[in-house]
Amino acid sequence: MKFLILITLLIILQACTQNYQPIKTPSMKNTEANNNPYYSRTDIEKLNISNEEWKKILAPDLYAIAREAATERAFTGKYNEFDEVGEYYCAVCGNHLFRSTSKFSSSCGWPSFFEADKEGVYYVRDQSYGMDRVEVLCKRCDSHLGHVFDDGPKPTGLRYCMNSVSLEFVPDSQK
Ligand SMILES: [Zn+2]
Repeated sequence: MKFLILITLLIILQACTQNYQPIKTPSMKNTEANNNPYYSRTDIEKLNISNEEWKKILAPDLYAIAREAATERAFTGKYNEFDEVGEYYCAVCGNHLFRSTSKFSSSCGWPSFFEADKEGVYYVRDQSYGMDRVEVLCKRCDSHLGHVFDDGPKPTGLRYCMNSVSLEFVPDSQK
């Protein structure tokens, strides 16, 4: 009887092993960059590309957020609840924006960071929708990334509230 149970267990184990497929996290896919000749994680040269041109290259959701300053729905972004170790780049051009060590768990519904790469972003006052906010843009391609608020944690006290769609995560293991 014991022997039969053992055999059954072995068969189940075997079946599990055969069915095992490595799970790829969505971040591993770099679909936006596939047909994008301007995307580079090493080139820091400033880009001056028209929206007409970007529209042909970028996925519709990325175009809407990055080039028309739309906002993804709260709690829907792929990096909202995500804590892998690595680097975050601009999904439009590949410019380095954030390190995972500056990401923190915020309840706002969007991926949040307390510090950005100084070479990666710049700021513009945004008074749209009756609010007074500070917009965060990519220094290399001028894409909209999100907004920064002063209610973040130490040491900076800042909360960079970003759209997941605008970000491209690369884990340290892939370097
Ligand atoms: Zn960019």
